[in-house]
Amino acid sequence: ARMSRQSPAQRPPLSVSFEFFPPKTDAMEARFWESINRLAPLNPRFVSVTYGAGGSTRERTLRMVSRIEATTGVPSAAHLTCVGASREEVDAVVEGYRAAGVNRIVALRGDPPEGVGQPFTPHPEGYRNAADLVAGIRRLGDFDISVAAYPEKHPQSADWQADIDNLKRKIDAGANRAITQMFFSNADYLRLVDRARRAGITAPIVPGIQPIHSFRQIAGFAARCGATIPSWLAERFEGLEEDPETHALVAAAVAAEQVLELVDAGVTEFHFYTLNRANLVMALARLLGIRPEAQATA
Ligand code: FAD
Repeated sequence: ARMSRQSPAQRPPLSVSFEFFPPKTDAMEARFWESINRLAPLNPRFVSVTYGAGGSTRERTLRMVSRIEATTGVPSAAHLTCVGASREEVDAVVEGYRAAGVNRIVALRGDPPEGVGQPFTPHPEGYRNAADLVAGIRRLGDFDISVAAYPEKHPQSADWQADIDNLKRKIDAGANRAITQMFFSNADYLRLVDRARRAGITAPIVPGIQPIHSFRQIAGFAARCGATIPSWLAERFEGLEEDPETHALVAAAVAAEQVLELVDAGVTEFHFYTLNRANLVMALARLLGIRPEAQATA
């Protein structure tokens, strides 16, 4: 039976979390809050705000996360990277999160400023990798910690064994769950989960879903982070740059297909990369049976 077509009473409850990035301009900030205010009533497990390359958004990340909690009551998570910073500097950011009442952290290594593909050199007095960072955060307080996982393995992992060993080190260091990089082939995600389970990793591995608001933009992001755009996906969007309406409908169909297939495979938690936009995510949540609080009881 297709679980995605069962009523919420018949299948395990589904839940979502949403990722945002800290806005740079007043106009972007207006859109950020508009989207938060539309998505918050969906009762996400948490909303997270990214940490700009090398900590460039440190203050804004903290400001946004504290304001989300204060204005919407939705649990919020702050991302944190250790690239280019000493332990002391990173620990000060963690203390700042704690002082502001932020007790959820998405802990990442980050990428060198020269680009994602470039070799990573830890700061001489810094955390060496994400597992080391997780252990550091654990020493500082009782945080809920998420880490990254990679359905197509991290580009710098020599092989799958190295990649899964690294994920296991992060969980063993105290992470509560992993959230995956974007992926467009569900088989890759299911294979990652299978490999992780066989390695004794029992923590949730939440699929990171990237709705395709703009195929051109997402294809660029995917190339930079090592996620494959399958040819069937590229073909679906081919020639739609000049036809935004069809583009939006195809994007909704593609994301719906991906998410509902995962529900049928038994997935119950989803993380959406919103890019600070609510529309597609609202539709996907509805397909998962998740509605704004006021409507849910109506
Ligand atoms: P790690 O887990 O440290 O792994 C990085 C690589 O190093 C892997 O190939 C691993 O196998 C290898 N490695 C680790 N330890 C060892 C070891 N001891 N020996 C040998 N090899 C080792 N970036 C940002 O800048 N800001 C963000 O807010 C942000 N949010 C993200 C959220 C999610 C959900 C995801 C999936 C990614 C995010 N990123 C973010 C991107 C992330 O910083 C990059 O993917 C980065 O390249 C790797 O980070 P990591 O935490 O996975 O690193």
